[in-house]
Amino acid sequence: MTTVPVDGLHHVTSAAGDPERNVHFFTEVLGLRLVKQTVNFDDVTTYHLYYGNETGEPGTALTFFPFESGRPGQVGAGQVETTAFHVPADSLDYWAERLDAHDVDRDPVGERFDDEILAFRDPDGLRYELVATTAETPIEPWTGSDVPAGHAIHGFHGVTLAVSNPTPTRDLLEFMGYETTATEGEFTRLVAGGDAATVVDLHTIDRQGRPGVGTVHHVAFRVPDDETQSAWREALAERGFRVTPQKDRQYFRSIYFREENGVLFEFATEGPGFTTDESVDELGESLQLPPWLEEDRERIEAALPDLTAPAAEVSR
Ligand code: ZN
Repeated sequence: MTTVPVDGLHHVTSAAGDPERNVHFFTEVLGLRLVKQTVNFDDVTTYHLYYGNETGEPGTALTFFPFESGRPGQVGAGQVETTAFHVPADSLDYWAERLDAHDVDRDPVGERFDDEILAFRDPDGLRYELVATTAETPIEPWTGSDVPAGHAIHGFHGVTLAVSNPTPTRDLLEFMGYETTATEGEFTRLVAGGDAATVVDLHTIDRQGRPGVGTVHHVAFRVPDDETQSAWREALAERGFRVTPQKDRQYFRSIYFREENGVLFEFATEGPGFTTDESVDELGESLQLPPWLEEDRERIEAALPDLTAPAAEVSR
């Protein structure tokens, strides 16, 4: 079996705090769709919430493990530092005003690698950017929110990885099929050959990250199917990485390994996707459990915080 180049991101998963605040921010403020309520399959007392476009297709899926009283982490080397979303050109004035109206902690509009960016933090301190671009993308935005379609988020632009030494991570990404296209100060840009969510920036910093609430847990790259994933598993193991066996995540299948700077990488299959257990219309409306957890549903539901109560407005 031979590998085929990775063509972009699949999803980004972070540790959040209060789940209702998380739902409020990503649906009401950013205008994403909650496409799945499930639990962390490795810790069923914690939700796993997925946001994205209408179907949460690969390249749009932002996911969280919300821990109501989790310990805060620290953003730093060995982690995804920033997750960037693709928005249409000329959208940033709209977004600056919208973020201000919701009291979101943000920076002035800035620039990196010739892109106009608007950086902001979510209620847990996780870092994001809206990247205004004229680049074509096949990703359609979710149009069920009050964000006008002309300004809505079209999935990911990419991620920034904080690393203490960019060389091994750059080599690995090039091995995966990314191409180094530019460097600017402490930033190196790599771009995959796909048509969406293709950018990875490496940010060289010294401060080490510490896992916990308010930090990204892992970043997932997309592979078309099990066969391609298995070829990658073999190729990565040959390169010396300790890659997990395939895990069934119900909506995709996954392998994981830590790259040399400590960032947890996942390779996730494109399918079967979020409509495997709910219709498109009903996505995200009720708690979904995989078949192997269904018999414990009552106990699992009783241990989870209630998500149906109206989201508490946080005033500052
Ligand atoms: Zn994942």
